[in-house]
Amino acid sequence: MRHTDGALSYWIFTPGAEVHRPSLNVLKRYGTSSQQTYAYSLVDHLNWAHANGKTPDSLTLEDLQRYMNGVTGEAGGVYGIAWRDPDQKPLGASAAGNVATIVKAYYVSLSASEKVNSDLVSALTSGGAVRRGVRSRSAGEANPLAPTKSSRRPRFLPDEVVEALFQPDVLTTARDVMIVTWLHDGGLRVGGLCGLRFCDLHLVRHHPCGQRADPHIHIIGRDDNPNGARAKTYAAPRDNLSSDGYVVDGIIRAVSPDMISTFHAYLLDEYHPVQHLVDHELVLIHGQGPTPGAAMTTAAVRKMLRRACDRAGLSVRVTPHAFRHKAAAAFYAASDFNAEMVAQEFGWANPEMVTDLYGKSANRHALKYLREAWEATARPPSEPYLALCEDELTEEEVR
Ligand SMILES: [Zn+2]
Repeated sequence: MRHTDGALSYWIFTPGAEVHRPSLNVLKRYGTSSQQTYAYSLVDHLNWAHANGKTPDSLTLEDLQRYMNGVTGEAGGVYGIAWRDPDQKPLGASAAGNVATIVKAYYVSLSASEKVNSDLVSALTSGGAVRRGVRSRSAGEANPLAPTKSSRRPRFLPDEVVEALFQPDVLTTARDVMIVTWLHDGGLRVGGLCGLRFCDLHLVRHHPCGQRADPHIHIIGRDDNPNGARAKTYAAPRDNLSSDGYVVDGIIRAVSPDMISTFHAYLLDEYHPVQHLVDHELVLIHGQGPTPGAAMTTAAVRKMLRRACDRAGLSVRVTPHAFRHKAAAAFYAASDFNAEMVAQEFGWANPEMVTDLYGKSANRHALKYLREAWEATARPPSEPYLALCEDELTEEEVR
């Protein structure tokens, strides 16, 4: 649903084109970004319940666990009637966690107004005696539907890949150099990057917004961007303008000198020449091609990265989020594993998300202790040339 003010809502409709009220009650608790994720998850669940003739008053926890096994592909056989497209892939742990969250929230919220199997509601809210140790991140309350496997650790983006992207003729425009530099140094989410407006960029020291002395940007979640980009913010939505008209609040991120210089290069070389075609305030636009001046979408950023990887001869697929992980992991190590500082700078709601992703301490520390353990071994030493650490070998030898 696009509202008259441009804001988007993700609601579920019945086959008779009426708003599905029970799901609306729970979906309206969330902002657009989470609402979109949860609405798609919930509609899948409602389709399953419909196809299998399950109603809230008779549904059991075991039914829901079979449903979860169905969506994660863990089901050993076929249960009930197939409701999903056979080409749909099973969900990963992180997406299944979202499904578990909204399905639980749906039945708990439903129990306030409609007849729901009371055993089901108490099993969902009892704190997870069914699968111990699985805690939902936000509420701190166990969800018996949550997948047992934790989400996968992020893939490591090696320095060599970044270096390859910055070889001549790999990034073909100043804009693309800016994008990769901002993803790499700032670790911005791609939605946040595409949603940046000029008024969000406070790239001077002591900007009159008064919220950070160093050059910075404000990442504001807005629902009315022409490219559909949305920044994810955990703060309550508000108009984000100070009384003197400066953007304030949101997630305030420091910017590196290279982020500033690549922005100015883009502005001069590519933005200004087509500025007369621009009818919006977003920073990233298409310079050439069929729609000069149009706001760049997150899909276009992903496509640009894919093409750059091809040109660089890289066989890996680099996603915008890989840069965020790299930037956050690097900052985490540089801050001596200060999860709170990383969460605040990168805009995670709590430090637990940082330790979930990157561990309580990082590999650098683990390796130091592992080396000590290996050195203390009673095993006789191997061939002397093998005893050299890699960094003691010359580059030639490593090759
Ligand atoms: Zn500011």
